[in-house]
Amino acid sequence: MEKKDKTIVCKDCGKEFTFSVRDQEFYERMGFENEPVRCRECRDKRKAEKNNRGTGSNFNNFRREETDRAA
Ligand SMILES: [Zn+2]
Repeated sequence: MEKKDKTIVCKDCGKEFTFSVRDQEFYERMGFENEPVRCRECRDKRKAEKNNRGTGSNFNNFRREETDRAA
């Protein structure tokens, strides 16, 4: 099946963003089964927040989340 750019509505800010063919191929290569639910902006924001939180009490939860997503 030929891939096409997809438009997805961001779960966080409600803006539409493009899940491009290149991104889809990247997700496939990484073995991700789920499509992204957030735009790049919100993902970057969350990533930054995660980094700021460092080794706080939520740290282990985040690690587990990350592992589940990659599995
Ligand atoms: Zn967003």
